Amino acid sequence: MALTHERAERSTIGIRKGDQVRVIAGRDAGKSGRVLSVNAKKNTVVVEHIAIMKRHTRPNPGKNIKGGIVEKEAGINVSNVMVVCANCGKHSRIGHNILPDGTKVRTCKRCNSTLDK
Ligand SMILES: [Zn+2]
Repeated sequence: MALTHERAERSTIGIRKGDQVRVIAGRDAGKSGRVLSVNAKKNTVVVEHIAIMKRHTRPNPGKNIKGGIVEKEAGINVSNVMVVCANCGKHSRIGHNILPDGTKVRTCKRCNSTLDK
């Protein structure tokens, strides 16, 4: 099997787990939440309280599971969300900056503050 996943093209995902993001397109447009996980292969992110999927489960007395509806976040495409800057409070495109010590950080394109701690 060829190593096709080692492609030269850079991942466009600037969003990271724990980021505060705002949904800019789709069913949940306008909402915001914290990123719970990032799937770089699928280009999707899971954001808390966004894109809730309702799953009906059967009761399983052996595992003490009550039947009913379980709500779970589904992944949404990264192009539908933008990171929210903690400094200016607005959703922004992500810029990159290299600090004098060589550390690469993400920056807010609006106010140029660093998004990474
Ligand atoms: Zn900002």
